[in-house]
Amino acid sequence: MEAKAFPMNSGDGAYSYTKNSYYQRAASYAVKEMLEEAIAEKFDVTSLSSSSNTIRIADLGCSIGPNTFITMQNLIESMERKCHSQDRTNMPEFHLFFNDHASNDFNTLFSSLPPGRHYFAAGVPGSFHGRLFPKSSLHFVHSSYALHWLSKVPEDLLDKSSPAWNKGRIHCKNASEQVANAYANQFAKDMEVFLDARADEIAVGGMMVVIMPAHPEGDRPSQSMARVALDFIEQSFVDMVKVGSISEAELDSFNLPLYSPSLKEMTQLVQSNGCFSIESMELTDPLSKIVCPLNIRALVMHLRAVLEGIFTKHFGSEIIDELFERTLDKFAEFSSLFESCCGQQDTQLFLVLKRK
Ligand code: SAH
Repeated sequence: MEAKAFPMNSGDGAYSYTKNSYYQRAASYAVKEMLEEAIAEKFDVTSLSSSSNTIRIADLGCSIGPNTFITMQNLIESMERKCHSQDRTNMPEFHLFFNDHASNDFNTLFSSLPPGRHYFAAGVPGSFHGRLFPKSSLHFVHSSYALHWLSKVPEDLLDKSSPAWNKGRIHCKNASEQVANAYANQFAKDMEVFLDARADEIAVGGMMVVIMPAHPEGDRPSQSMARVALDFIEQSFVDMVKVGSISEAELDSFNLPLYSPSLKEMTQLVQSNGCFSIESMELTDPLSKIVCPLNIRALVMHLRAVLEGIFTKHFGSEIIDELFERTLDKFAEFSSLFESCCGQQDTQLFLVLKRK
């Protein structure tokens, strides 16, 4: 297994990602029309497929499905519609690359590929923080809810002598400025590597769409769903220290390698890479297509499907049931916090880049 990979829960059991990717599914639906529009207006399917009659698409951080299948289907239908609207007689063929860490459950992914799909499927194992494809070989890159995973926890957070030591916390929310800066620096380093690699791999005129958690400059929304969820998990860990389920040292030495940037940070990173034009950059509401009130149990099951792997590695598997039961209790206790959440949480970046 790669050193810093924490795969989503595998298989198709009760706690699997496949059965519990509630939040990210909603997030993909929320930007479905924006993705269609970006392809209709900005993706030059004809000239990109002119040499080989093939469009090569990659979904980076695809996980196990089914979200990746739903989005890829939508993406290819949008490209086909565009070809029809241009009266093309020969449709391009679509070659789709599903990428994730090598430890991702690719078996489940491939055994659930949709029958009757209009594309050829391939798996590409490895970190997107580095090269994955030959030069100029891709025409469209999609990545949803993956780039907020840092390649590693910033080292300073674990150094007791550093002002960025993140004692008693698992994230940068509510933490000191030094902790927030350590996270921001790690994200900047990761994005530099990511954008350099994609600049090599995407053909001139090709596009990249990134969907990930983000926030407006200067505004760290305290009530966003993801932040509240992280808070509840953190408080549950603190309670577990109090009752002796885990030790204080175990909590102090754990931090989540997750970061959501501001639009300004993202703009600066794209500009300093210099190989992409920003075609569109918007904040949207990941919950806009969810019927309120939120299904709290489904949300906690989703958190478990995503985070169980990383928590198990550090704290051991015995604490997992207790942790998520406590987290569910916190959600239930403070449910009024979420009643107004749907439709007012612009916490998701929809970014469209074009290779210059
Ligand atoms: N895009 C999917 C999955 C999101 S979960 C969806 O919307 O449902 C995030 C996925 O990103 C996980 O499967 C995780 O393993 C993957 N991921 C995180 N960092 C990665 C990296 N550096 N390289 C490749 N995949 C990564």
